[in-house]
Order: sequence, then C-alpha cells, then structure tokens
Amino acid sequence: MPARTGQDYITGLREHPPEVWLRGERITDVTTHPALRGGVQAVAALYDLQSRAELRDEMTYVSATSGDRVGYSFIIPQTQPELQQRGRMMMRWARTGCGMLGRSPDFLNVNFAAWSAAADYFAQNRPAFKTHVRQYYEYIRENDLTLTHALINLQRRRTSGQSQLSEGVGLRVVRETDAGLVLHGSRILATLGPIADELAVYSPRFGGGNAAGSEAYVLNFAIPCSTPGVKFLCRESFDMGRSHFDHPLGSRFEEMDATVFFDDVFVPWERVFLLGDADLLNEMPRATNSSVHTAHQGAVKNVAKSEFVLGVALLMARTLGSEELPQVKERLAELMTYTEVMKASLRAAEVDARVDQWGVMCPDDLPLEAIRTLFMSVYPRMVEILQLLGSSSFMALPSEADFETPLAAEIERYLATDTASARERVQLFHLAWDVACSAFGGRQVLYERFFAGDPLARAGFLYSMYPKEPLMERIREFLGKDS
Ligand SMILES: Cc1cc2nc3c(=O)[nH]c(=O)nc-3n(C[C@H](O)[C@H](O)[C@H](O)COP(=O)(O)OP(=O)(O)OC[C@H]3O[C@@H](n4cnc5c(N)ncnc54)[C@H](O)[C@@H]3O)c2cc1C
Repeated sequence: MPARTGQDYITGLREHPPEVWLRGERITDVTTHPALRGGVQAVAALYDLQSRAELRDEMTYVSATSGDRVGYSFIIPQTQPELQQRGRMMMRWARTGCGMLGRSPDFLNVNFAAWSAAADYFAQNRPAFKTHVRQYYEYIRENDLTLTHALINLQRRRTSGQSQLSEGVGLRVVRETDAGLVLHGSRILATLGPIADELAVYSPRFGGGNAAGSEAYVLNFAIPCSTPGVKFLCRESFDMGRSHFDHPLGSRFEEMDATVFFDDVFVPWERVFLLGDADLLNEMPRATNSSVHTAHQGAVKNVAKSEFVLGVALLMARTLGSEELPQVKERLAELMTYTEVMKASLRAAEVDARVDQWGVMCPDDLPLEAIRTLFMSVYPRMVEILQLLGSSSFMALPSEADFETPLAAEIERYLATDTASARERVQLFHLAWDVACSAFGGRQVLYERFFAGDPLARAGFLYSMYPKEPLMERIREFLGKDS
C-alpha cells in the first residue's frame, strides 16, 4: 500500500477500534468523539501532505520491496542528502503541528528503521528476532501505520527499581506458548495511544534488570492497539470543544496520553523482538543508534516549537506596543538565543553525520543529546517568558462569542491597541494562552520536561556518552607545563 492519506488513517482506526476509556465512557469511535477527533484530524492532515503532488518527493520515496511510494520517515538513510531530506520531511510535519505534536508518527518510524538496519543486534537474543524486527519494520512501512509506545512500568513506590517486580504492577510475561507470549500488567504513557494503529512496548532502562525473576519483565514487542485485552485509559481531554479562535491549539492538536492495561494479552512470536535479556534491552537504544534517530526527530520538533513560540512572542510585543522596551527586547533575545541554539545543533548533527556500524547515515549524537537535555529546562522558560510578556492581557480576554453581544462595541473600542484591532489582539492572546497557560499549554511543558524520560536519567545518559578524557587530558597537559 502506498503512503496513506488522512482518510486511509481514519478508516483504519474505524475498522480496528481499540478499547479506549475516557471520563467513565467507553469510546466506540475515536475518529468522531469530541475529545479525540481534533487529534485524529491533526494526524490525518500530516498524512494528507504525503499525497500532495508538489510535495511527493519531499514526503515519500520508492520502496524497494513494493515499488510503492512510502513515507520518507521510514527511510534507512545511507547518505547525507537522504538524512537531510528526512529532516526536511519531519520539519514539514513538525511545522504543520506548530511543534505541538510531539509524537507525530515519524518518531517511531525512525526508531523502527534504525532497528531494522541493526537487526543483527536482536539476533544476539534469539536468531528469529532478527527476522521479526525486519519484517515488522517492512509491515509498518508498507502499510504506513501509526505507532504509539508505552515504555514505563507503573510503580507503587519510587525507592527502588525492584518495587515493580515484587508488587506485580509492571508488565510481565505470565505464559509462554508455542504461538507466543501472554502478558499481564500495565505501562505508561502511550501518547497518541487511543488514536494509533499499533502499540510498541520496550523498556530502554530497566531498574533491577538482573535480579532473579526480572526476566519476565524484559520485553520488546509491538501489537495492534485493538488487540483483545489491551485497554487505554485516557486523561481528560484538553480539547474542550471550543472554536479554533478560543482554543487554537487545544482544539487542533490533542494527541492524548493514556495509561495502558494488559489483561492477559496474547503477543504472537513474530511480534516479539527481544525477551528476557535486560542488558541487551538496556543497551539497545545506544547500540542500534535508535536513540540518535529519535533525537533527530525530537530536534526537528524543538526547532519548530521554538520558532513558533518566538513568533507568538514577537507578535505579542508588536501588538502590545512593547517591543522597544529594553526588558522586552532582552526576553525576546533570550527566545532567539534558544531558537538559534536548537537550529545550530540540528544542523551540526546533520552535517557531521557519519555512517555507523549498521551502514546507516547516523546524525552526530552529541549535539542532539545535548539539546534533548537542554530543552527540558529551556521550554518551561520559554513559556515563562510568554507569561511575563503578556501579563494581564491573558486575563482581559473575551471569548469569540463575546464579540456577538451588546458588549461588542466596548470590546472593539477598549481592547484595540495602536497596532491591532481588538479582534486581532484577542485572537493572538488566545493562542498565547494555549501555549503558556491553558491545560493544553501546561501539558506541553510537562511533556517537554519528561517525554524523553526522567531529566536525571537523561543527564546521566549525556554524561556517559560524552568524550571526557580528551578534555581532562588537555588540562593535565596545561598543568604539566613549565612555562
Ligand atoms: C506528557 C507526557 C507524555 C509522555 N509520553 C510518553 C510516551 O509516549 N511513551 C512513554 O513510554 N512514555 C511517555 N512519557 C513518560 C515518560 O517517559 C516518563 O514520564 C518519564 O520516564 C519519567 O517517569 P515517571 O513519570 O514515572 O517519573 P517518576 O519516576 O514519577 O519521577 C518523578 C520525579 O521524581 C524523581 N524521582 C523518581 N524516583 C526517584 C528516586 N528513587 N529518587 C529520587 N528522585 C526520584 C524523578 O527524578 C522525577 O523528577 C510521557 C510523559 C509525559 C509527562
């Protein structure tokens, strides 16, 4: 099947409905439910870009397997132009979502492309896993499926990595059969889960992975979201059913996060990629370089998001007539600095890309890992700057409906500024509100802080990969100088 359209994606969700629960209700059709349909439309809009004639070469490439044009984020890049082309394709998706769709499908597409190229790594666990991972990658590429993932075991306490084992909360194998595995337990946090086709589960870091009995928790597999026994429990929706004017982001980009329960779920062997070997699973992201490729997607999203927030801030200052104030310029310059650092790191990673041991053109890992870590604290600061720039304008904020009341004349008169009509100002500040203050905006901050894992663990990852010796050696040399 060639790269899908938005309608193909929607049809797929309707034909294979997952078990989704939200605010006490079982949702039978996620594509039409008011809490989720906005997110479905947003993902569908990404897929629609693939069938636009003028974007064909940017968004798709020809599959060697089928001869069909498939989504470009599935490519296993072998040259720098291919890698950069993947970056451009992902940037178009990221900008379409204003940087607010963190889990657009490219995130896991690049992940599985990296695993497929490094399939020999999986064979170390069991020879068949090499074939499984390759075939699965081909399957999702040729069918252009949308994936979600849930990597984290829920925990009853946070004092020790062992707690999840003893309490039976984490996802574990309860039975192995000739046909596959039976799993029971739970995982967080499947962003996009209720509106995805497939669910991938793997634990990149597994606390207490070598303890006796822990093997049952060491898993890497993928199954359809509609598999019997898989249940998605949603948080409340931040699409409040309001207009694009009132909630420009929440009404469009609700990608939803869900806890996943597994109630004796059957996973056929051909969908199992690693099992029981904690060391192999823990080393997998680095050994296969999948963590670098997902960081590439994340870096693209960071650039799109930084540019978007900076654009909102610039327009806020212009609208309020504050752009010549030194403290406002200072704050805008801070946003510009973050944006340029993100852009420069992304570019450096692409330009300094090298072919890795799997024959894949792999972006340079250090700049990507550095900005992945940096953005966890920079994004909350970017949002804080919007709040500082906007102040009471976030509160003097009528809704779209207020423009149709007897107050309209007063709104038009008193809320206009030297550079903007009242309507322009109010529309802009609804957008700024959705970035900086609304439930949707608050979730974005939480997302950036945690989506790539605990910041402490991320910092440890960067520390472990950083080439420290040459720098210390330089200092030793300096200290040893006589003159
Ligand atoms: C909006 C959002 C979307 C997400 N999307 C996904 C997704 O699509 N897929 C997915 O797999 N995951 C997703 N995640 C989950 C993410 O991977 C986890 O949030 C992250 O790994 C941190 O785990 P946790 O939330 O359990 O944090 P916790 O373990 O609850 O940690 C919370 C805080 O407590 C601290 N802490 C925890 N334990 C200790 C300890 N023993 N000693 C000292 N300090 C401690 C941590 O440093 C951290 O600051 C998402 C998270 C968010 C917020």
